Amino acid sequence: MKTIDYGIDLGTTNSLIAKFDKGKVEVYKNPIGFKETLPSCVGFRGERILIGDKAREYIVKDPLNVFSSFKRKMGTSEKYLIPSLMSYYSPANLSALVLKELKNFIPSGEKPRSIVVTIPASFDTVQCNATKEAGLEAGFEEVVLLQEPIAASLAFFNEKMNDLESFGKWLVYDLGGGTFDVALITIDEDEMRVIDHEGDNFLGGVDFDQLMVRHLILPRLEQITGKTDLVRLINQRNGPYEKLYYVLLLKAEEAKKELSFKDNVEVEFTFEAEGSETKEIYFEISRTDFEALIEDKIQYTIAFIQKIFERNSIQQEDIKNIILIGGSTLIPYVRKRVEESTGIPVNYSADPTTAVAVGAAYYAGSKLRLLQSEQENRPFLENNAESLTIKTAYNKTTKDMEEYITAVFENLPDNCRYRIVRHDGGYDSGLKNATVKIGEFLMLKPNTVNFFSIKLLDATGNEISLNTQVIEITQGLFSLYGQTLPEDICIEVDDTNNNTTLSEVIFSRNSLLPLKKTIFKELSRTIKKGSDDSVIINILEGNQAVHPSANKVIGVIEVNGNMISSDLVYGSDVEITLEISESREIKVNAILNFTNQTFQQVFNPKVKYVSLSKLRDELKTLQNEINASITKTLDTDDYEKAAFLNDLLESVQTLIKEVGKLKETDMDESRYQLDEKKRRLATQYYNIGLNNSPVFEKKEKIQNIKNVLDFVIEMHNDVPGNLKEEYIAMKLSNSDVVKSTNHFQLNAYYLKLDKFYGKLVYATPSLLISNFLHHRDLDASHYNNFNKVKKLFDKGDKAMEKGNHNELLSICKEMWAELKEERSEIEKIKGTGLGS
Ligand code: ADP
Ligand code: MG
Repeated sequence: MKTIDYGIDLGTTNSLIAKFDKGKVEVYKNPIGFKETLPSCVGFRGERILIGDKAREYIVKDPLNVFSSFKRKMGTSEKYLIPSLMSYYSPANLSALVLKELKNFIPSGEKPRSIVVTIPASFDTVQCNATKEAGLEAGFEEVVLLQEPIAASLAFFNEKMNDLESFGKWLVYDLGGGTFDVALITIDEDEMRVIDHEGDNFLGGVDFDQLMVRHLILPRLEQITGKTDLVRLINQRNGPYEKLYYVLLLKAEEAKKELSFKDNVEVEFTFEAEGSETKEIYFEISRTDFEALIEDKIQYTIAFIQKIFERNSIQQEDIKNIILIGGSTLIPYVRKRVEESTGIPVNYSADPTTAVAVGAAYYAGSKLRLLQSEQENRPFLENNAESLTIKTAYNKTTKDMEEYITAVFENLPDNCRYRIVRHDGGYDSGLKNATVKIGEFLMLKPNTVNFFSIKLLDATGNEISLNTQVIEITQGLFSLYGQTLPEDICIEVDDTNNNTTLSEVIFSRNSLLPLKKTIFKELSRTIKKGSDDSVIINILEGNQAVHPSANKVIGVIEVNGNMISSDLVYGSDVEITLEISESREIKVNAILNFTNQTFQQVFNPKVKYVSLSKLRDELKTLQNEINASITKTLDTDDYEKAAFLNDLLESVQTLIKEVGKLKETDMDESRYQLDEKKRRLATQYYNIGLNNSPVFEKKEKIQNIKNVLDFVIEMHNDVPGNLKEEYIAMKLSNSDVVKSTNHFQLNAYYLKLDKFYGKLVYATPSLLISNFLHHRDLDASHYNNFNKVKKLFDKGDKAMEKGNHNELLSICKEMWAELKEERSEIEKIKGTGLGS
């Protein structure tokens, strides 16, 4: 039984590889240059590929053929054109080269087949898949992902804080070269987990370097040389100063690092203007200038901490410490600001550049490889033996040198014997008589994960196969309670009443992986056998409170009329099971109960799917909504917003035309690109604060009907007392619902209020009269059969005069039945076929 042992920090700026061995972790060094860090940088020099420091140095010679920070683009469809090769590399292709290079750091020359690779806590499923793809491309056969803040905490607690003091809540603040991440973690009973996280994939040391060039170096250079257009021309592609820009970025980074230890730093370089001779440039930059430059950015990171505090209702006193990691936390100003503005002590005893790799290796040391022979996996499995159920109980982690385990056998045959062995051979219980319940002290090897197996022999000495997993006990180290989901996972369902679709949450953000759940949905329309119509099971990642079109599609099963064995009738059940593994593989299983058919799909990085009819629907919905918002916005005289919306509308309409040209059978990439464009437009639309998210609209509807009810109850003093009480109780018991972002709960509450209003009209004579009078004033266009209604009006008048409430009520019921349904001009969308 083997563990993975190797862990890689695949960083935006720097990558590292480390190995867990006998309770300790070693970070490997580059055999060339003996540095632990490998810059995540790839250069193409003719036919040769340069990786790491060599690529970084080459950038000043040929900037167009050197690539870095590609992790920021992981999982996007963006491709890098390599001019020297005239071919394209994806961010995953470039990352694969870095991963492959790291293998050369292993001194023994071993080529591990399995690896743990770290990812930012914010990475979504697509980004995770792209990272796994990079690992496979680099030659690993099994890639296990681990979130960076967890990796850092594992390193910190296993190496620096391995005592009881560590119980409680901590923050991990990671400011690296390209990304910022902050995570809230808890530790108890030797286990840790991430409760919440925040971050920005586009903030880090690289941004500080750019700011330095733009605001500190170039203005001085303009001053010294008398040139006034440097700032403008410097980062123009193929511009006169392009190479200078890369030189200055490297100079800026050097200076920035020095300023972490000194108050002033000298900047020196050679300047060569077009057509004139070269000039040696020299000036100084002070730490104060640098601090002023990054002040806003650091403040921005602190705002994320505040956000986490608010969302989890915690105060600074609840946090023990902030662990600082990432190269940019070596900046003294960062340490000072974080400590001062949060009031929480910061701890920078973990090595900020290696912590993530070290933690990845600790994790790798506790993770069994999947890639081992069956025999290795189940050492005591006999082929034809009957399987017997066994239940075990023990602590998975302990600080003691032995752990007591109990096991209960179900249907244990007579005269059996058992034996427990540690996989490394360091412990063996010996053969003992088996009773239904057994107990045993297991000896542990220190500071590592211990694996044991139980073997059961029948009366004749033949082995009985057991259903039990391997027993895994970690001695002296923190183990991981679990990794969490960075965003909500939802399924798209129809909201037929509102001619739109909604995101219904299946797993919420921060749930612990792995996850599995089965839900039941009813079909919202009949799908005819052999027709083009289809049921679309659309799995989304993002925020349950926004419209599905603004969320990312991570898995789709489309079942169309040609795939079903008979008609699928409206209202029949669809049973959907969704599974997400720790490495974020997604498995969807759909059973159509009516036709008894099962459709299953595992979604891996290469499976992309966009349904054209769905894309058309979504664009139509978006168009309708933007149109409605423009009208609303003009009503409030907000012309600026209306103009923005008009632009957005135009983009949507252009997109509709482009999509119109595609055919369902087209196989090229364009539908994915157009879908991505749609998602961006939808996100822009739902983010401009128009408050027209599905959730906001539901809340608005609830507020409106509550206003009406409040008014009615106040103005009509003949409202029965019991109804008044019922209303108060209803408001009280739903006070949490109005705060929620779950549109289904909100909708249910709205329907309750609406029903209650009906009840109120029935039971309150004066309210029924107002209602009748209101309808009597409506003209013929509101009714189906106005002649009939006119007669009802007369009858109603008489009933009113007589004060006969019951008679008026039955007349009103007939009158309401004649009301025409409000017809909307809006084109009906098709939806998913799944009801909400
Ligand atoms: P990533 O996780 O993004 O790969 P790292 O954690 O390795 O990044 O941090 C790299 C960043 O840290 C770079 O921008 C680098 O300039 C910066 N950095 C490294 N050392 C220092 C230092 N002493 N002072 C300031 N910044 C530093
Ligand atoms: Mg990092």
